[in-house]
Amino acid sequence: MTMDTQHEFQPGQVIRRSLGFKAQVQVPLKADYHSAIVEAMQTNGHTLSVGPLTFKLAKEFGFCYGVDRAVDLAYESLARFPGKRIYLTDEIIHNPRVNERLRELGIRFLRGTYAAQEQLGDLGSGDVAIIPAFGVPTKDQAALQERGCIVVDATCGSVVNVWRRVESYAKDQFTAIIHGKYWHEETIATASRVTQYPAGKCLIVLDKPQARVVCDYIVRGGSRAAFLQTFAGAISEGFDPERDLVRVGVANQTTMLSSESLEIGEMLRAAMAARYGAASAGDHFRSFDTICSATQERQDAIIALAQDPTIDLFLIVGGFKSSNTAHLCEIASQSQPAYHIEGARGIVSLEEIEHKPVSQPEPRRSRRWLPAGRVTIGLTAGASTPNRLLGEVIERIAALRGHTALPTTHAGHPA
Ligand code: SF4
Repeated sequence: MTMDTQHEFQPGQVIRRSLGFKAQVQVPLKADYHSAIVEAMQTNGHTLSVGPLTFKLAKEFGFCYGVDRAVDLAYESLARFPGKRIYLTDEIIHNPRVNERLRELGIRFLRGTYAAQEQLGDLGSGDVAIIPAFGVPTKDQAALQERGCIVVDATCGSVVNVWRRVESYAKDQFTAIIHGKYWHEETIATASRVTQYPAGKCLIVLDKPQARVVCDYIVRGGSRAAFLQTFAGAISEGFDPERDLVRVGVANQTTMLSSESLEIGEMLRAAMAARYGAASAGDHFRSFDTICSATQERQDAIIALAQDPTIDLFLIVGGFKSSNTAHLCEIASQSQPAYHIEGARGIVSLEEIEHKPVSQPEPRRSRRWLPAGRVTIGLTAGASTPNRLLGEVIERIAALRGHTALPTTHAGHPA
């Protein structure tokens, strides 16, 4: 159902659905993010051949339903509220092209790389505040409403599902153990859903080695001080491992590596069974896989593409801050060299590529990334990557090799 475009919104109102301009914004969205090359590949077996270059695209890639909705709502806000000050609390998604475009269109950012001068406290009645796909901490949402902003809530439904899960843990006095990155906006927002309850406790584990530390503490105890130091910044205030690891519920940031999340869940289940006995596991342990379906589908698709023996290397396109893109690169790198690039600018030359290696904090340049002669490149893109960026990568490589990236119907047969 669309909203009446003349409807007046009240200060403090939270809007979670279309603003009634969905059809109108399709033209600018297509102009900004669409790629004819990628569209042609989708109808041609996800393959494109250009001279000696073959590109093979994963079956699932690029914008997910949550990102589609968030970007739509940002464009709809621009169409619905001309003349009003429109803010994003932070990056709408982790893709520089999209954030830069929204800034060009006049949306101002309160935090992060694109932050303008204003702080949340500078906003007032009549301003429009868009909440990104990751959500915001509860106190920020409350502050925006108290200040009388019209709040356009683009939080993804899959993130809200995680919130419901961890809130149920907090209500039942289970500590939420979240497999995620404690500095990531989504996980910060999720943790706030736990700590809004007076007895709510949470602990964020980054990976299996950290999960092992927690499991060891559950089974054998240990140094409280060392535990607290290991998880500094990743625990709720006043966290006491003696008291707060007796009943635990597991959840995960929606974009983590699915296989690792499942392993961490099993590690914790086994630790609680070892500590309290399998018979009373239900009193001490709960678990729910909160990886979103879009993340799972993209990970499954790159796992499938990695089985293709003809692929020489992978290019994984997405923002360097994008968690789900990094995990796609991690999966692909287990079969062939894989390079996580932000876009065509990453293809510095046929010799050199700027990419972010798996598990490294910063991008770097590598040489001899592209073999000479015939080469097959596996491609995918994170859930926050517009198709336009994928198409530009293909065009750039083809142009450097002296070809124009014309869509083809079959490998080697121009349409
Ligand atoms: S990656 Fe998943 S949780 Fe994140 S916006 Fe997309 S669908 Fe939602």
